[in-house]
Amino acid sequence: MFIAMKPHATAAEFEAVVEKIRALGFTPHPIVGTERKVVAVIGHTTGLDPEDLFGTMPGVAEALRVSQPFKLVSREVKEEDTVLDVDGVPLGGRAISVLAGPCSVESREQILETARAVKRAGARFLRGGAFKPRTSPYEFQGLREEGLKLLALARETTGLKVVTEVKDTETLPMVAEYADVLQVGARNMHNYSLLERLGTIEKPVLLKRGLSATIKEWLMAAEYVVSRGNHRVALCERGIRTFETMTRNTLDINAVPVLKALTHLPVIVDPSHGIGLRAHVPAIARAGVAAGADGIIVEVHPSPEKALSDGHQSLSLSEFEELMKQVRVIAGAIGRPIPA
Ligand code: PEP
Ligand code: MN
Repeated sequence: MFIAMKPHATAAEFEAVVEKIRALGFTPHPIVGTERKVVAVIGHTTGLDPEDLFGTMPGVAEALRVSQPFKLVSREVKEEDTVLDVDGVPLGGRAISVLAGPCSVESREQILETARAVKRAGARFLRGGAFKPRTSPYEFQGLREEGLKLLALARETTGLKVVTEVKDTETLPMVAEYADVLQVGARNMHNYSLLERLGTIEKPVLLKRGLSATIKEWLMAAEYVVSRGNHRVALCERGIRTFETMTRNTLDINAVPVLKALTHLPVIVDPSHGIGLRAHVPAIARAGVAAGADGIIVEVHPSPEKALSDGHQSLSLSEFEELMKQVRVIAGAIGRPIPA
């Protein structure tokens, strides 16, 4: 259940609600928005009447049950969009967030050249994997800590914020030391021990959709992180498995408006993994923005044909520059700026 306070409720009135929740043996989860203050009650509240318990307390506007199984991430509990503050750079919100970079960090030259180019084109986040969960154990697994160091160097050089994948709980402390945003890959969306650990650290999380996960399962995965105390989570639609074999995955464009209605978390679209074909990545990136995504994450490489992973779906530097011009037009048409 959740209790929404009146706009002018006092701090003491809010505290009294929080105290009552504790006294009942539940954990209060304050959700602070700019429009209204809400506190969610997590635990087995079945059989309790929210209105009876909290409805008449001073400062309380309403006390309701959350109808969805995901609670803290639901739009019911928090109406306004969540914007993640990544060290001063917003992820989510009205402006379209652009995250770009190679699938894997490969060398100093490769990451610096890409970082400079994507920044010039308008990206504010640099993506790049240092720990790569590859389908085949014989394929390039990433430069590991060396890759993280190169990402940190690229951040120092360009000011871009670093988004990189965390593969397991063992390497989480190391990855968290270098990353500004921790990416949870599709293969790990159901890794509940990793999600729980991510809930206890102070780093934003980009949670990719599992290969065959339903929207509900994905939102429940986000709930794992948020319910442990880390409210900075963004969702990334990266395509799902379907019967189609002409494309790598099927980007579920439906998920974008559906998520925007169900959750307050930012929604990012990954057209690169979503279709898996370089020639068609721009079309899907444009579609994602047109459908209402809060951002895009795009694989970009200085020489895609030589990339150690996902070259077939990576844009060249000039292709990315061209894409950004197109995306600006689409974003502008629906009243969403992309800061220069
Ligand atoms: C990636 O971003 O390079 C990646 C491995 O993505 P996913 O987990 O969506 O397959
Ligand atoms: Mn990739």
